[in-house]
Amino acid sequence: MIEEKGILFVLSGPSGVGKGTVRKALFDNATDLQYSISVTTRNPREGEQDGVDYFFRQKEEVEQMIEKGKLLEWAQYVGNYYGTPREYVEETLENGKDVFLEIEVQGALQVKKNFPQGVFIFLIPPSLEELKNRIVSRGTETEDLVKNRLLAAKKEIDMMDAYDYVVVNDEVDNAVDRILSIVKSEHCKRERIAKQYKKALEE
Ligand code: 5GP
Repeated sequence: MIEEKGILFVLSGPSGVGKGTVRKALFDNATDLQYSISVTTRNPREGEQDGVDYFFRQKEEVEQMIEKGKLLEWAQYVGNYYGTPREYVEETLENGKDVFLEIEVQGALQVKKNFPQGVFIFLIPPSLEELKNRIVSRGTETEDLVKNRLLAAKKEIDMMDAYDYVVVNDEVDNAVDRILSIVKSEHCKRERIAKQYKKALEE
């Protein structure tokens, strides 16, 4: 293989869009992607295992990790900490394997800032466009309500600007297919390959 380092893929999107479901379906299929298990202070849900779904940790422990710079990104979400252990991501990429993160939008923006060479995928609900049309064309809402709804939808759409790809989550299998296509395409990117070719020829 010409490429040396792995590619960091980040899946994010508005809350409730189904990121977790899509990620699980993606990893149910055989994939060369390595899932980065997050740390969290939230309690495990039924069936969730420590070290498989998350590293379930105490608040103090996560705060220490933050202080020591051991998290690539972190966020507080609904009263709990969530974060990506830095070492696993860096070592795996260094070993030439692709890493996949599934995180909320604040965390994704942090990764984008610290690791702009990552590939950022924004998952959107299928009804966003439709939602807009519906809001505008439905004459029954008060003007203020329409305005507020449009504003909320716009905020969601605006978040796309930081991303490289947008995947519509119309059906989980379709969304997974699209993500796998993105992974394949990224490996064919001229910039990535040319860099490695040139390096190899210089050596
Ligand atoms: P849940 O508690 O439902 O498993 O996850 C809640 C939210 O936290 C989801 O939007 C999920 O994508 C996000 N999340 C999971 N792990 C991380 C992480 O390491 N960092 C950030 N920023 N968000 C995460």
